[in-house]
Amino acid sequence: SLTAGIVGLPNVGKSTLFNAITKAGAEAANYPFATIDPNVGMVEVPDYRLEELTKLVKPKKTVPATFEFTDIAGIVRGASKGEGLGNKFLSHIRQVDAICHVVRCFDDDNITHVEGRVDPLADIDTINLELVLADLESVDKRFARVSKIAKTKDKEAVAELAVLEKIKPVLEEGKSARSIEFTDEELPIVKGLFLLTTKPVLYVANVAEDEIADTENNDYVKKVKEFAATENAEVITVCARAEEEIAELDEDDKKDFLEALGIEESGLDKLIRAAYHLLGLATYFTAGEQEVRAWTFKVGMKAPECAGIIHTDFERGFIRAETVSYTDLKEYGSMHAAKEAGRVRLEGKDYVVQDGDVMLFRFNV
Ligand code: GDP
Repeated sequence: SLTAGIVGLPNVGKSTLFNAITKAGAEAANYPFATIDPNVGMVEVPDYRLEELTKLVKPKKTVPATFEFTDIAGIVRGASKGEGLGNKFLSHIRQVDAICHVVRCFDDDNITHVEGRVDPLADIDTINLELVLADLESVDKRFARVSKIAKTKDKEAVAELAVLEKIKPVLEEGKSARSIEFTDEELPIVKGLFLLTTKPVLYVANVAEDEIADTENNDYVKKVKEFAATENAEVITVCARAEEEIAELDEDDKKDFLEALGIEESGLDKLIRAAYHLLGLATYFTAGEQEVRAWTFKVGMKAPECAGIIHTDFERGFIRAETVSYTDLKEYGSMHAAKEAGRVRLEGKDYVVQDGDVMLFRFNV
């Protein structure tokens, strides 16, 4: 499954946020396998539609979709020079599918800042520069090899060389490769380079508890947003310290606590949803009397592939999928009524599944 890695300089609130994630996971359900790797935290994907479907169908059991975060501690200035920890850190980032970059946007004299001042842009720069330098090394290596092959007029090598030539100067300027616009032809080549700075990123501005209700006027957050816009990246604001407390509350207490903080949604819920989108993920549902369940799929997947997420047999023997949108099912109140109204479709193997589809797969065994 896909995972988002949590990175950031020391003392910005990563562990606090990660604690909130593991606590929330432990609170919500029992995921024994999640404890195997202490750096992986599993959370439920919040989805009001699942609650609504549960009310409609009244199943024996409701199972939400889950999402994994990986804690990647330990980046410091100089990581790209590849000494010990730094090297390990970069190889951990290489393995995640998206990056949640936590940035300190709170003042607190009691908490030392590694660089001696709170400056989110400089912090972002410090980390991004390490990733840029690591990428530059990869690109240079590749360049040396591919430019030789390109001399033989090998088509693929020529195309790759052009891409490398496009990326290299940007990295040399200290900028992430994700700031470059690539053509559809270039994209697969870029993907094959496995760069760190092309991984999708989300900036997580960690603000003080008393600022969480009004982040619009937070100058630190403003700066982070301005920067993120240059990378087409999203910014979410959280108060990691408050999240740790929220993660231990049940639903009712959580609502009260959020109200007291002056926010509608917990930072963790925002983070989960944002990471989900960042990775191009969406949700379809199955809604039977036994179980109502949310399933995660990648946007663009067709019906058989989505069936395969439940079980490989479903994909192999796929015949068709009875499909109704969540909105229609909610509006008509039952599968039966939706059917009578002609809102239930029979979709075949070429159907591209949509977020919010409620599906019943028919298959041969
Ligand atoms: P890490 O090194 O990035 O993992 O940072 P930690 O999560 O260990 O946090 C460093 C310190 O900052 C700890 O003492 C946290 O309690 C504190 N901290 C984290 N988030 C917040 C916050 O939102 N506000 C304040 N005031 N302190 C925070």
